[in-house]
Amino acid sequence: MEFDTIAAISTPLGEGAIAIVRLSGNEAIQIADKIFKGVGDKRLKDVPSHTIHYGHIVDPSSGQTVEEVMVTVMRAPKTFTREDVVEINCHGGLFSVNRVLQLVLTNGARLAEPGEFTKRAFLNGRIDLSQAEAVMDLIRAKTDRAMNVALSQMEGRLSKLIRGLRQTILETLAHVEVNIDYPEYDDVEEMTHKMLIEKALYVRDEINKLLQTSQQGKILREGLATVIIGRPNVGKSSLLNSLVHENKAIVTDIPGTTRDVIEEYVNVRGVPLRLIDTAGIRETEDIVERIGVERSREVLKKADLILLVLNYNEELTPEDEQLFEAVKDMDVIVIVNKTDLPQKIDMGRVRELAGNWPIVTTSLLQEKGIDELEEAISSLFFTGAIEAKDLTYVSNSRHIALLHQAKQAVEEAISGIEAGVPIDIVQIDLTRTWELLGEIIGDTVHESLIDQLFSQFCLGK
Ligand code: GDP
Ligand code: ZN
Repeated sequence: MEFDTIAAISTPLGEGAIAIVRLSGNEAIQIADKIFKGVGDKRLKDVPSHTIHYGHIVDPSSGQTVEEVMVTVMRAPKTFTREDVVEINCHGGLFSVNRVLQLVLTNGARLAEPGEFTKRAFLNGRIDLSQAEAVMDLIRAKTDRAMNVALSQMEGRLSKLIRGLRQTILETLAHVEVNIDYPEYDDVEEMTHKMLIEKALYVRDEINKLLQTSQQGKILREGLATVIIGRPNVGKSSLLNSLVHENKAIVTDIPGTTRDVIEEYVNVRGVPLRLIDTAGIRETEDIVERIGVERSREVLKKADLILLVLNYNEELTPEDEQLFEAVKDMDVIVIVNKTDLPQKIDMGRVRELAGNWPIVTTSLLQEKGIDELEEAISSLFFTGAIEAKDLTYVSNSRHIALLHQAKQAVEEAISGIEAGVPIDIVQIDLTRTWELLGEIIGDTVHESLIDQLFSQFCLGK
């Protein structure tokens, strides 16, 4: 049997922070060669089967190095799929592995459907059906694991940043302490009012930056909260159903907040989406009708992504225009559905209303345009702010809560300094900031703060 070359991210169980982009098919080695730069002039097409090679993934269009990798080449038929297989081992977490996958896809591979490698193994006679089913279960576990690996890496970076901030606070407190208790130490820089406030402002700004990244962390953990809006009958339910059916549902164990909405988790080209379906949408009821204007505003406010659906076969109505207005500050993809029917919508006006938002035309009935929509979703996510900024992601709600408290404490210190309150009051607020940040990284404080101060600075020895 002959199939095209497919690729996907597959992370092995029981290994550390490594993610694998796997290719299978006739052109697997050829495609990998286009983006692989090994040592010297090594080409993967020339290497023996079942060997592993060190090198870099380089974007052939820009010459930019994307990842440091180990590449395994396995030739048919002694492979899992009985086709040529290449595995690109990346260690840079979810985002760099996704960049490698994107490169593989732009250089000739097709994104594998969930379980497609297994399906090939089955079709090529490599495994039987019960084995295929067992592997499918494993695949599900692997996807969750890939997510966890990426998240734990991010948390490592978070701890490092928090430690740096705590160190700053500690040094600041040490200076204050020296000024209070050891006025004779004139070789220690005097902590002036101005310096104290500078340090406190710095700490506050850094906490703010971390809190800003928590939005993206939330996206990774919970999925991009996606709300489908549109007038009745434009195709919202049909859209939800095609997204769910085209993509593998993500299994999650996120602790249930009180939910009066139905949520579907799907993985759209590596982007975890949490499709929020207010209880009514499925039953062809309008979100506003079903849960009231106030509630639907709340749902909208929490959304990371809005899919605004219009009907190609009807003229725009004032209600459509109101929907544009309601989501004007958000990330929106405009979907003009029912292109199988005659055009009645004014596309010029749609473009005017949409501004910079992507517009995708679909016929959900004929299953057309769904690829384009998925492409729009994934490029919004992967080429957006998230990839450009090299941020640390705060994803844990306990961490987020502690960061908010720490921010409050340092702000109290700042207003205290500004109001000229006694320095030991300011110390209390800064100490509390330090402790709250410590709780995030789980540092158990055996010694008192003062002990720590002195062990760090060896004062008065
Ligand atoms: P909702 O009220 O916005 O959720 O719309 P539905 O998804 O329930 O769809 C309303 C009707 O439009 C149903 O009868 C669908 O089968 C039909 N429909 C959805 N998408 C299309 C399409 O692309 N073309 C056509 N002709 N009909 C569609
Ligand atoms: Zn509906």
